[in-house]
Amino acid sequence: MTQYIRLLRRPKADGVGIFAITKKNRTNFYVFKEVPCDIGGRGFAVHRLGLADLYHVRIGTSSESTCECMGFLSRGRCKHIQGLAALIGHGMI
Ligand SMILES: [Zn+2]
Repeated sequence: MTQYIRLLRRPKADGVGIFAITKKNRTNFYVFKEVPCDIGGRGFAVHRLGLADLYHVRIGTSSESTCECMGFLSRGRCKHIQGLAALIGHGMI
């Protein structure tokens, strides 16, 4: 299924950035911040705006990429990992 991620605010000195994921005409906005990760890959704390959900997302090789959301726990992949990996792959963060 097609989904789009847009980087709305590139992380600045405070390390906080904002991205939006649009899927099926629904857009969710997320605040994110890179956090130290000692076990391989890059770690991000991702907070969905308007809800209490906070996910820790790790981006690295396929075995290093993890997320705490239900999608990842049930399917082993999710839009948070796909979206952040796309931003990293394009050198945007
Ligand atoms: Zn996720």
